[in-house]
Amino acid sequence: MTAGVRLVMLGRQGAGKGTQAVRLGQHFVVPHISTGDMLRAAVASGTEFGLKARSVMDGGGLVSDEIMVGIVDERLNESDTTKRGYILDGFPRTEAQALALEKITADRPLDVVLNLEVPEDVVLERITKRRVCKTCGQIYSVDTPPKNGWICDVDGGEVVQRDDDTEDAVRKRLDLYAAETLPLVSFYEERGLLSEIDGIGSPEEVFARLLASVAARRAG
Ligand code: AMP
Ligand code: ZN
Repeated sequence: MTAGVRLVMLGRQGAGKGTQAVRLGQHFVVPHISTGDMLRAAVASGTEFGLKARSVMDGGGLVSDEIMVGIVDERLNESDTTKRGYILDGFPRTEAQALALEKITADRPLDVVLNLEVPEDVVLERITKRRVCKTCGQIYSVDTPPKNGWICDVDGGEVVQRDDDTEDAVRKRLDLYAAETLPLVSFYEERGLLSEIDGIGSPEEVFARLLASVAARRAG
């Protein structure tokens, strides 16, 4: 069995982060932890917290650092992640979250932070074409739909456009990314953890770049 890994994925919305994180999780046999998916599950469960999260997400805003740090702290202390590691996708998104993550991972530090770089104009087009499975989160596009209508190839779930993939909400999220999350690129560069990956190309090409980058880090 391959060794596990503790990995953070950075990249603006639509950079292909989610798709690649799923693949990396399968490759390294570690859980793919997407805070967006966790929040969407809370929304679907209809709890009071889910209702609050929903209004923030639909508006393209960020859920509070305190709540997000609590969720991630709990998840990173479960035995699957402490044993083999994880692919963290969608967290950290602010400097406060990155500082909290340093504390959470003090005993088991990150191996690498991968920044998937795709320019803003390219991601805008990608996001408006994006469709996702309501049940498993599998990502499709208008250009690469499921095989049988808008029904998920993996589990038969309904494939839809995300409520927060409207143009207004997408613009707000890209602005927030530039203001809050982009500074994390230098944050991790200063700590010697950052690898930059060109996110333009087929999913297979990008995946190969990501694997090569993780391997290069491990070789030291
Ligand atoms: P994503 O699927 O990663 O694009 O996340 C969808 C939405 O969930 C985001 O637009 C935010 O509203 C919220 N969200 C996900 N992760 C975080 C986070 N780490 N901090 C704050 N809000 C988050
Ligand atoms: Zn599905």
